[in-house]
Amino acid sequence: MEGGYHTVKITDKVDEVQGIPMTDLNKIRQQISLTALAEEAGAKFDAHHMRSRCPLPRHAGDRSSLSFVTYDNGQKWKCHSSCPSDANGGDVISFYMAWKEVDFKTAVQELSEWTGSQDLQPIPISVPKQFIQPQKWRERAAEFIAYAEKNLNDAVIEYLRKERGLSEVTARAFHVGYNPQNIFDDPIHWGLEGRKIWLPRGIVIPGLWKDEPHYIKIRRPLKNDPLGQYIPKWDAKDGASDIKFGGLRGGKSVLFRLELLDHLPVLILTEGEWDTMLLWEHCADLCDAGTIGGAQSRFDLLDLALLTGYQKIFVVHDDDKAGDKGRDYIASMKAISPRIESISPPSHDLTDFWRVGGDLRVWVAEYVTQALQGTKHPRWMKVLTNARQELPEWDRPHARERSKNKLPYSNSPILSILASLYLRMITKWTNRTLKPLSKR
Ligand SMILES: [Zn+2]
Repeated sequence: MEGGYHTVKITDKVDEVQGIPMTDLNKIRQQISLTALAEEAGAKFDAHHMRSRCPLPRHAGDRSSLSFVTYDNGQKWKCHSSCPSDANGGDVISFYMAWKEVDFKTAVQELSEWTGSQDLQPIPISVPKQFIQPQKWRERAAEFIAYAEKNLNDAVIEYLRKERGLSEVTARAFHVGYNPQNIFDDPIHWGLEGRKIWLPRGIVIPGLWKDEPHYIKIRRPLKNDPLGQYIPKWDAKDGASDIKFGGLRGGKSVLFRLELLDHLPVLILTEGEWDTMLLWEHCADLCDAGTIGGAQSRFDLLDLALLTGYQKIFVVHDDDKAGDKGRDYIASMKAISPRIESISPPSHDLTDFWRVGGDLRVWVAEYVTQALQGTKHPRWMKVLTNARQELPEWDRPHARERSKNKLPYSNSPILSILASLYLRMITKWTNRTLKPLSKR
């Protein structure tokens, strides 16, 4: 049977393994994607999602060959090369054991936190009619994003810096761009039918997943909008003066974040892309930041696998906000795992807090310190130290220099590494070629 940590004695009836009901084990196997979890551990599968270099920490030999395979429709895995014989294959649970170097019970317990098995809470995964985004949509979107990035000019960069607290480095890392004119593109280019695809004039913010665009939002200049002081202000030709964000038809929500090779222990999910980028700008050494586009968004299995890597996830949510959507969202988040906690923003939102001179680093540091109390993980201890340094000492409250208007990247070795990662990603993206977009 499965090579691995646990063997199941075959009897007439197998109800449990090491005291854990089979139903819980099956729930984990069904709900957590082995492929996604392996990718989270660093596997990069070939085109057929079958073979990768081995991502496991106890793999003793070289990792040049594609020795790690999945089979049985991605339900099972095997390392054919240098993993120890007691941990070189099995199911999603044994993979987690080999990856995190934990025993069977711990693996089940931790994975159950993500499936909700233990407390029998259902995962909010219900997709009655799933829209399959055409690959053409992603290709066309990538072209448009590259085009917009080329058009990111000094005026827009000044807006980002003065009104949003974002440096050009951060903007470029997130592939933010500028679309200088209203475009109505033929839907055929996007693999869609029907009316034209509206690409409004404004600041382009792409939602990427594994380097591929899944959605695009465009922040348009509105009447009497500060943005209109930097780019040509709204005029009648722009139309739709009540739509702040133009979302391109055919987009799919994903977790908006920077895709890095490694992650920090704490993830803060904000209410929007601006706040995510702002957190990244100021707190990249303290936490990861992300947002889920749209109030009706939900986590899919890929997101879940990603989230298992975090010790703690804080969801910033304005409790006063009208409407039940936000509250439903938080409720669905909490149902996923007790590791997810909702917290109130220090101001209306993080960008407003920054605008009034609030110190985001102190605000974040308090939560990070709380989440990492007592950690023994060497890398996490480094993060905890970073966070503690931000907390004001009793005898000199609020005496520190604001990090506002100052790039944090040069302050620490971690940040310089992150900065170099940016550059690699930016280079990769700007090398994309742009096909001409049709105009109305
Ligand atoms: Zn291996």
